Amino acid sequence: MSHLDLSAHRAADISDGIARKEFTAREVAESALARIEALDGDVHSLNQVTPDIAYAAADRIDALVSAGGELPPMAGVPAAFKDNMNLIGTRTTCSSRILANYESAYDCTAVARLINAGVLPLGKCNMDEFAFGSSGETSATGPAKNPWDLGRIPGGSSAGSAAAVAAGLAMVTLGSDTGGSIRQPGAMTGTVALKPTYGRVSRYGCVAFASSLDQIGPFSLTVEDNARVLEAICGKDSMDATSVDRPAEDFVAASRRGVTGMRIAIVRDMLDMEGVTPEVRDSVLAAAARFESMGATIGEVDLPTSQHGISAYYIIAPAEASSNLARFDGIRYGHRAENPVDTLDLYMRTRAEGFGTEAKRRIMLGTYALSAGYYDAYYGQAQKARTLIAREFTTAFEDYDVLLMPTSPQVAWKFGAKSDPLSMYLSDIFTIPVNLAGNCGINVPCGFAEEDGAKLPIGLQIIGDYFAEAKVFAAAGALERDLALDLRSPALSVPVA
Ligand code: GLN
Repeated sequence: MSHLDLSAHRAADISDGIARKEFTAREVAESALARIEALDGDVHSLNQVTPDIAYAAADRIDALVSAGGELPPMAGVPAAFKDNMNLIGTRTTCSSRILANYESAYDCTAVARLINAGVLPLGKCNMDEFAFGSSGETSATGPAKNPWDLGRIPGGSSAGSAAAVAAGLAMVTLGSDTGGSIRQPGAMTGTVALKPTYGRVSRYGCVAFASSLDQIGPFSLTVEDNARVLEAICGKDSMDATSVDRPAEDFVAASRRGVTGMRIAIVRDMLDMEGVTPEVRDSVLAAAARFESMGATIGEVDLPTSQHGISAYYIIAPAEASSNLARFDGIRYGHRAENPVDTLDLYMRTRAEGFGTEAKRRIMLGTYALSAGYYDAYYGQAQKARTLIAREFTTAFEDYDVLLMPTSPQVAWKFGAKSDPLSMYLSDIFTIPVNLAGNCGINVPCGFAEEDGAKLPIGLQIIGDYFAEAKVFAAAGALERDLALDLRSPALSVPVA
């Protein structure tokens, strides 16, 4: 079989082709692994490639085909998982030196559910260390690159999950989003990227960053594939007390139903903020006009409190991270400093050696914010701001079904361009409020900008109320069809065997 161009297909094409015996799941795995072999040296989207696991999954599918059994819904679809999600038989490193050799002891629920749905696990995706970052550059294994221009960042922290899909190395991947880490790399790489409602998807087995914000979600090249993954991974899990007992809906049907009669609002004050490039602003306004022409009513809202989301987030997220990362002490997990003179020396040198600069910055910020005497002034205030942001969204959703904002103020930047942490933090201004409120949001490609000869994707963020993923998929699917921006991949040189 000549190699399948995964980026030219929907997940359903692969499953149907296998069911019709046009090709086998093993051939799909071979094809995907060959493409990774050819291209991922440049893209570095994967920290670990797992051919044995992929072939074992493929053989199970092929055996089902031979036996005439019913295939699972995503049979034979090549997939990969952010390297903060455990999967037995793989390392789970969080792209950190401290976990460089950590072997998964159990399976992350979302990963296990996706594998049960029939996907072929190709590997573990590169990421910012412990998901701290917006560019992929804090990875201890070196950054993943943006397939649209290898000199640019793919966004972060789910850098590799986004880059792998954009490069056609995997059809679907999972990422995690604490302050934008699914949607923002989605925008940078032109991929469809969903942060589900907090509680929609179990986080069991995903290494915690900030537990009140973290949520797992899918990347894909089409809205329909994204919907299919959410159907497979969502729902109550007895291993995660924050997971909510809401059954999967027919999200695939929702992605096809259109926007007739939907009430959609542009978030005016956010769009008019300083730092939003003219190309991004124009594309968001053009998308709103397309929705109107497709039968939606368009209005405007302001979210003035959400503009303070970054300030609240950089108290709450580091506070929770400093607590979650306390367990990496050289005794229970991962790296251990050699020849300690006493226990304190063991803790201190293990952590000094194991964590990178950004992780240390977060641990110090968070520990300070939680320290006696400062707790109310920082953490308490931030929690109040968070409540106000959540109320602001709730009020907006009384009048509108979904809200439109840019996902990111600008397109993908060049490596090293944001070397001070504050300018990096500011790039998440539009995604963070959604994590603070806990509702859902998707990135869907809405155009391109030219910069220094590179064609770079622009992302629209469509935000929904709690558990309103079906509406978000409806709007995203309609725009994708209207703009014909699905299955858009950069022209990487693909050796065809
Ligand atoms: N970029 C944000 C941060 O650095 C968000 C990260 C995330 O969502 N994991 O914290």
